[in-house]
Amino acid sequence: MPKAKSNKCSFCGRDASQTQYLIPGSENGVFICDSCIDVINGMIQEVEQENKAKAKNQFAKKLSDVPKPVQIKEFLDQYVIGQESAKKYLSVAVYNHYKRLMQATDDTDIEKSNIIMVGPTGTGKTLIAKTIARLLDVPFTIVDATVLTQAGYVGEDIESLLTRLLQAADYDVAKAERGIVFIDEIDKIARKGDNPSITRDVSGEGVQQGLLKLLEGSVVNVPPQGGRKHPEQRMIPVDTKNILFICGGAFDGIEQKIAHRMNSHVVGYASAGQRRVKKDDYLKYVEPQDLKSFGLIPEIIGRLPILTHLEPLDRSALRRVLTEPKNAITRQYVKLFNMDGVKLKFDEDALDLIVDTAIEYKLGARGLRSIVESVMIDSMYEVPGTGLKEFTITRQLVADQLAKSTKIQQ
Ligand code: ADP
Repeated sequence: MPKAKSNKCSFCGRDASQTQYLIPGSENGVFICDSCIDVINGMIQEVEQENKAKAKNQFAKKLSDVPKPVQIKEFLDQYVIGQESAKKYLSVAVYNHYKRLMQATDDTDIEKSNIIMVGPTGTGKTLIAKTIARLLDVPFTIVDATVLTQAGYVGEDIESLLTRLLQAADYDVAKAERGIVFIDEIDKIARKGDNPSITRDVSGEGVQQGLLKLLEGSVVNVPPQGGRKHPEQRMIPVDTKNILFICGGAFDGIEQKIAHRMNSHVVGYASAGQRRVKKDDYLKYVEPQDLKSFGLIPEIIGRLPILTHLEPLDRSALRRVLTEPKNAITRQYVKLFNMDGVKLKFDEDALDLIVDTAIEYKLGARGLRSIVESVMIDSMYEVPGTGLKEFTITRQLVADQLAKSTKIQQ
């Protein structure tokens, strides 16, 4: 910047000869010198530090407001049937996540405990994650690992996982940096065997390597609009050090790996050492090495130190899913009918038939909704406006509706 000899800094009054640089403002005769710029920069940094400290204090004050693990679990119990172990692990992990965010900086650093949940599809992994999110005041997002690909391939870059979190935090980076990300279908990025040299699955492993960076904690450049990184897009740097990652996956076939490790076979009832283990019970014994056999790289497993499982939902669990959760599907219909002044009831044996159908067609908990939808469609069409005060779903009605339905009988 050339110095104009007779000019002065409008802030400190130094003459051009006393400064290294004198930068003109948009108004004629207005200048600022390099020393003043340094001073102002220092002031801005101070204010920023203060703001950061304030934000931390505000958060810290809330520790007493954070629900305790027992309370988190009780809340989950209202929505999620069974899955005691997963609910307990998640409650503790989320509580510790808060503690970690509020820890004083001394010698003992509470390390992040990312979580991995293994369990068949439709057993409540996403439901647990979503339910916890309702309770929290940290940004939370659910992302699907299947859309991710290694940089250079068709799909989304790993960093786009954090775009959703940024959005959940209204692009407040500091807030996003202490959020929680639920990564669904983590098993879909497993490589196809645990021997990298024989069955090398480059894209699966590449995605895992990319994910590792996020799990480990590093500053990554996030595309604010998601998708691919475009050179013209301004990236937002996000530090993942304090972000809690919860991963979920069905890991279809992992029972075989567990059985193999336990030296037994998965055929109905089989003996596992001295134990008799039912096929469905193998997941209880899942260990990190089984995830490795399934195709997760050891570094990823190491970054997901909390491993928990979800049980397949048996008949009695499915039956409870239908009526017990706070927003159980049957309760939703009762509410819908109630708005028309109609008291809706479900006969016990009607509910049994719905559950039997879900089991028969191997639809699981997710199928319960579509079955109930099929059962209810005609009643929802006909009942409003009839002046009926009460309406009961009988077993016969369920059977008739299911016989008619083209959706379920495939
Ligand atoms: P996934 O394990 O594949 O993530 P979801 O959590 O998405 O399964 O479950 C699908 C649906 O099935 C849920 O929205 C919920 O209605 C029902 N459901 C599954 N598991 C349970 C459960 N343990 N308790 C209550 N409802 C459940």
